[in-house]
Amino acid sequence: MVRTMRFGPAGYPSAGKAPEKALEYTRGLGLDALEVEFVRGARIKPERAAEIGAKARQLDIRLSCHAPYYISFNSDSVETRQKSIGWVMDTARAAHNLGAYIIVIHAASYGKSPDTALPSVVDGLSKCKDMLDDEGIRDVILGVETMGKLGQFGTLDEIAKVMDQVDGVRPVLDVAHVHARGRGCLRTEADMRGLMDQFLPLCGDIAHFHISCIKYGDKGEISHLPLETKEPDLQMLADILDDSKQECTFICESPLIEQDAVVFRDMFPSYRRTTGRRGTVPHFIYIKNHSPDTIATVAQR
Ligand SMILES: [Zn+2]
Repeated sequence: MVRTMRFGPAGYPSAGKAPEKALEYTRGLGLDALEVEFVRGARIKPERAAEIGAKARQLDIRLSCHAPYYISFNSDSVETRQKSIGWVMDTARAAHNLGAYIIVIHAASYGKSPDTALPSVVDGLSKCKDMLDDEGIRDVILGVETMGKLGQFGTLDEIAKVMDQVDGVRPVLDVAHVHARGRGCLRTEADMRGLMDQFLPLCGDIAHFHISCIKYGDKGEISHLPLETKEPDLQMLADILDDSKQECTFICESPLIEQDAVVFRDMFPSYRRTTGRRGTVPHFIYIKNHSPDTIATVAQR
């Protein structure tokens, strides 16, 4: 079977401690993707990144990277706009050293000047793209994430406009963010199919997804939730994509990063591994309280 779908956690699972151990643990769950979280800065020595990248390749785990949260190309502050270029570049260099194929960016907020958000993002990412070309880094895609709050830049339409003006940019589809921004807009399989019809023509060789469920209010996203809350019901997405030829990476950003990555993989009839044979695949038991601090999981073997 040609494997077109890959699944993995957003960040190193804590059970693994060191990155190499976390990668082995991830592989042990039958997962084959992982997003390295540089959300507070991409500080990693090139040699160390190369070691971790080699381990991921050995285990056949596809890597991606998440850029810092404080990137803000539409900031009032010239300094922040300048620094945002540096934060993207640090992440892109780290991704290049790791062998990661895409970096995921929260590009901007509308702030006091919504009208300047698109040109500001285009300007910032163009500069990044030029610098990447100058440095000979051609293997890292600039992924712009669809955002969940109404005050944030990042609808698929907006990202498509950035793509029109900057080479090397692709959307990263956070399905839960779309649902939250539309205040629960993904209710039916037709809703989900409509989203795929918009996203897949834009996504490039590999469609990069963030998956989770989500709590939302009048302003959109409030917090990410485990998949069992079915907001939205991601089984609809799995049913639509199960027999697709599109290569996809699904990074799980639910509070249960690796457990729900397994749960989501098993929603795909073609990729399901938990067939009930004990001793092969761990099953996870959900603990009722979903606060990330108190989540405990039990692997039954
Ligand atoms: Zn993100």
